[in-house]
Amino acid sequence: MNDVVLKLDGVEKLYNKGLAGEVHVLRGAELSLKAGEMVALVAPSGAGKSTLLHIAGLLDEADTGAVEIGGQILSGKSDRRRTRARREDIGFVYQFHHLLPEFSALENIALPQMANGVSKLDAEKRGKELLETVGVAHRAKHRPAELSGGEQQRVAFCRALANKPRILLADEPTGNLDPATSDQVFDALMTLVRETGLAALVATHNMELAARMDRVVRLENGILVDG
Ligand code: ADP
Repeated sequence: MNDVVLKLDGVEKLYNKGLAGEVHVLRGAELSLKAGEMVALVAPSGAGKSTLLHIAGLLDEADTGAVEIGGQILSGKSDRRRTRARREDIGFVYQFHHLLPEFSALENIALPQMANGVSKLDAEKRGKELLETVGVAHRAKHRPAELSGGEQQRVAFCRALANKPRILLADEPTGNLDPATSDQVFDALMTLVRETGLAALVATHNMELAARMDRVVRLENGILVDG
């Protein structure tokens, strides 16, 4: 069985094409990400990590090359098709949690499921299970502002996984946290990834965390290289 869930094939991206400030950020990036695999994406700031994650997550289009999700080429497809794939197959986490401030932790995880047609009861049941997995169940009724930075980020992971995506794309998910909290939050992320068997691509500056993942890819001069 082909268990590659995310494939990037010859992905190129230029910003400000043809202008004085033209930046050729991606120059033929290739990647195959398999189910159950957690891969670190490492590069200095400005190298193009966010650009690559946005293209992989169908939030932005490559200039050339293809993005394949679950064996289907989705680059170049209609907005509707891409939005559906994004909603069903991809979870995102960013450096900042982006939780909805007026809702509790549990509601933040239940709402995206209810938007996909899951009943409130089932959505909250899954939300509680996810919160338990990351050790934040006792904060289920708290709003984001009442949570610590590490707790907020763990809730954001749960929300990203609420609709059972096949792929998790994370952009410096512990970048905002102090080293001790960062370790804890990363442990929670790893537990979630291991328990759900999803494929994760995690951009990080933290080489210790990168070394704990299954493999490391570096973004160098617009292409991805192993190690
Ligand atoms: P990283 O995530 O590794 O810090 P980014 O993907 O954010 O890198 O940015 C890569 C390069 O592309 C940078 O030089 C940045 O200034 C440039 N860039 C990013 N987004 C845009 C944009 N919308 N327009 C023009 N240049 C951009």
